[in-house]
Order: sequence, then C-alpha cells, then structure tokens
Amino acid sequence: MDCNIIKDLLPLYLDDCCSEESRAAVEEHLKECGECKKAFDAMNSAAFQTIEEPYTPKPLSRINDWKASVLQSLLLFFSFIVITVGVALEAATPVGVENSFWAFSLVIPATGFLISLANWYFIRIYPSKAVFSNSSWALTLLVTVIAFLWTCFHYGMLPWDIFFRMIDPNDTFRVFWALGIVFTLLLCVLSKWASQKYAKLLGKE
Ligand SMILES: [Zn+2]
Repeated sequence: MDCNIIKDLLPLYLDDCCSEESRAAVEEHLKECGECKKAFDAMNSAAFQTIEEPYTPKPLSRINDWKASVLQSLLLFFSFIVITVGVALEAATPVGVENSFWAFSLVIPATGFLISLANWYFIRIYPSKAVFSNSSWALTLLVTVIAFLWTCFHYGMLPWDIFFRMIDPNDTFRVFWALGIVFTLLLCVLSKWASQKYAKLLGKE
C-alpha cells in the first residue's frame, strides 16, 4: 500500500478507530517499511504515550454499569422464578419423603445460585476477574451442597440414603436427583460465565 495512505491511517490506527482491514494493512506495511515505522514510532512516543502504558484503569462507562446491573437482575429474577416454581410443585406433591424431590432438583440448586449472586455486590474486594469468577461458581456449589445436607436433615434422610436410592434402578425418583445434579452443574457453568461477563462490564481486569 502507498506510504501516504498509511501515514494518513496512522493516527486512526493509534486511536484504535480504524477498521479491521485498515488495521491489518497498517501492521503489514509497518513490518516492511522502515520510513513509515519511524513515523509511527515518533507519533506513538510523542502524542500517544499514555496508550502504551499498561495498567491504566479504564474509566467505567455508565452504559456498561447499567448492562451489568441488568445482567445481575435477570439472573436474580431467573433464580426467583425457579425457586417459586420448585416450591409450588413441592407444595402440590404429597407430604412425606417424596415431597422433597422438587426441593432437591430445583429449589436447592437455584438457592445456591441466588446466594452466589448476592456475592456479586462485593466484586470490589476481589483482586481479579479470575478470582471473582472462580469464587462465584465455587460459592454456587458450596451453598448448594450445604442446602442439600440441610434438606436431607429436614426430611429425615441421611445423605447416603439418597446415594443408595440413586443407584437403585427400581427407584423412579432418582431421575429427580439426577436432574438436581445436572442443574447444579449447569448453574456452576452459568455462574462462571456470567460472573466473568459481569466483571468485564465493570472494567475488572
Ligand atoms: Zn511506507
């Protein structure tokens, strides 16, 4: 490409305002042309020094703040719906041990997820996006396990009773527990993914 065109593009390139194609063309040209590389270096060190500085905290945009709040609210709403549906289904089933299946398959995993969302309000105390995201899904799992143990106690079951019922092929309700485990794993994945997105929107590195 012509050197003059490249020189016209350099300021846009440095401001990150040009298209993918122009960006690739400039980079390609700078590799081959010493004169344009010199012009680029001069521009880069003089007027655009701050761009090269690492760890410059990005100013948070209000739009991203708003998007992060919407994301968190949608997930809170989703967990509330699942818990409400689970509690309603549980209330509609006969009292007794069978009464607990909706609790195990829907209410407990959704509760673990809901509580992990409350942790999102404390994102500022986490040193990095990775630590925040990992603590988010780990908290989902931890609360789910605690709620599971509590529910076993509440329904007068021992956790290993459920284990033995799960491996018993004649026990039709093991489908519910399998659902609960799958749902818990899905929520852990959702928690990891969504918390990363949330942290990114808030400019957390
Ligand atoms: Zn050139």
